[in-house]
Amino acid sequence: MSARILVVDDIETNRRLLEARLSAEYFEVIEAADGAEAVRRAREDAPDIILLDIMMPGMDGFEACRLLKADTATKHIPVVMVTALDQREDRIKGLEAGADDFLTKPVDDVALFARVRSLLRLKVVMDELRLREAGRDSDAEIAGDEFQGGHVVVAGADEKSARRFAGMLPAPFDASPCWEPLEALRRARETDLLIIDLTSPRFDGLRLAARARSDAETRQLPILGIVDNDDRSGMVRALDLGVTDVIARPVDPGELAARARTQIRRKTYADALRDRLEESLEMAVTDPLTGLHNRRYIISRLRQGLDAMERSGERVSVALMDIDHFKRINDTWGHQAGDKVLRGFAERLKRELRAVDVAGRYGGEEFLVVFMNAGGDCALEAAERCRAAMAREPFVLASSGESLAVTLSAGVAEARIGDDIEDLLARADSALYEAKSSGRNQVLAWRRKAA
Ligand code: GH3
Ligand code: MG
Ligand code: MG
Repeated sequence: MSARILVVDDIETNRRLLEARLSAEYFEVIEAADGAEAVRRAREDAPDIILLDIMMPGMDGFEACRLLKADTATKHIPVVMVTALDQREDRIKGLEAGADDFLTKPVDDVALFARVRSLLRLKVVMDELRLREAGRDSDAEIAGDEFQGGHVVVAGADEKSARRFAGMLPAPFDASPCWEPLEALRRARETDLLIIDLTSPRFDGLRLAARARSDAETRQLPILGIVDNDDRSGMVRALDLGVTDVIARPVDPGELAARARTQIRRKTYADALRDRLEESLEMAVTDPLTGLHNRRYIISRLRQGLDAMERSGERVSVALMDIDHFKRINDTWGHQAGDKVLRGFAERLKRELRAVDVAGRYGGEEFLVVFMNAGGDCALEAAERCRAAMAREPFVLASSGESLAVTLSAGVAEARIGDDIEDLLARADSALYEAKSSGRNQVLAWRRKAA
C-alpha cells in the first residue's frame, strides 16, 4: 500500500531519519519544517497521512492539528502526533485537537508502520466515499464534527473490569459493560464502538475482534483495543487484524474517552457519507412518486437489451402503457387523487410483472416496460395481464371512499435487428395510438398496417 506521507518536524535530522525509513518502505515522503508550512503543504499536496511533531517554534503541533481538522480540505487526513515524552497531558491535548494517533520518539519502526497501515486502510475507504460525495451537488455539507455521544460496548475480562472501563465513559457516552465474548459480538451489531480488552486471560480478544470484522453487520464498526503497555507485537497484530485504535494499560480515563470520541466521530461521518451515497444512487434511478425506475434508467436498460440482441440474438420487446382519460381523474378529484392513482397503478404493475421485466415511469401517466429475452407475443400477454388487473378492480380514495375505475391502453413492439431505441419506441407508440383511437382499455401489438 503506497502513500504520500507528510513529515513535519522543525529539526532536519529528525525529518531525514523518518524519510529514510518511510522511503525504504516505498512511501513517498514530503516535508514541512513548522506548523504553518504543514498546513499549507497539506492543502497543496494532499498527503495521505501527516506525522506531526508537537514541539516546534512558532505554530506548534497542537495548533497545526486544530487548523488541519477545521479545514474541509484537510480534515479527513489522518494526523499522527509525534511526542518526545510520552506525556498523558500531551496525548489528551492532541486528541482534543483532533489527532488520530500518537507515536513516541524515538519512533519505533514496527509501531510506525502498523499505525500507518491501519490509518491508510481507513483512509482508502473514506476517500472512496468522499469522492462519490464530491460527484454530486450536495446542498448541505456533512458536519461530522460535533460529538453527540454514542453507544459503546465494553468487552472486559470479567464483570468488574468491564464495569470499570465502562465507568470511564460518562454521558453523553452510553457505555454498556459485557464480559461474555459472544454476547459482546451480538450487542456490537447495535453499537457505535466496541472496546475490547485484548489482555483478557478469559477470552481471546483478537479472535473477538477478527470475528467482528468478518461479520457483515459489524464490518465497519470501530474497535478500540486495550493492550499491555509493553506488548508491542500484540499492538501491531491488533492493528493489522483490523482493530481501529489501541490504548495501552494502565488505561487513563481521559485518554480512553478522547479516543472513543475520535472513533465515534469518524464513524458518524462515514455513516453519513454512506447514507448520502445510497440515497443519491437510489435517486439517480428511481421515480420518486411511484418508486418505479425513472425514464433515464429504463432507457439505459433498453439500450443494454438492444446491445444484447445485436451481440447474441436475444429477443427484446417493450410495452408502452398509458392510463386512459387520466386528465379527467385530476380534473374531477384533484391532483393528489391523481398521484394516488399513479402510485397504485405502479403497485399493480409490479405485482403483475416478472422480476426480470423492467418497468419504469416514462412520462406523466405513461409507463414503459422492457421485456428482456422475450418476444412480442410474450410481452403482449404480460401487458394484457396488467390491463386486466387494472380493469378488474377500481381504486378507492381514502379521503372520500370514492372508487375510481381506471383502465390502461398499451402498445407492444418487438425489437428488430438494426433498430435503435427511437425506432422501437415509435412502433410501440403507434400501436398505443391505435389502441386509444379504437376504444381504449386494450393492448395492441404493432402491425405493419398500423404504422
Ligand atoms: P388518454 O386516454 O388519451 O391518454 O387521455 P389522458 O387524459 O390520460 O391524457 P392526457 O395526455 O390528455 O392527460 C394526461 C394528464 O396527466 C395531464 C397531466 O396533467 C396529468 N399528469 C401528468 N403527470 C402527472 C402527475 O405526476 N400527477 C398527476 N396527478 N397528474 C399528472
Ligand atoms: Mg392517458
Ligand atoms: Mg398521455
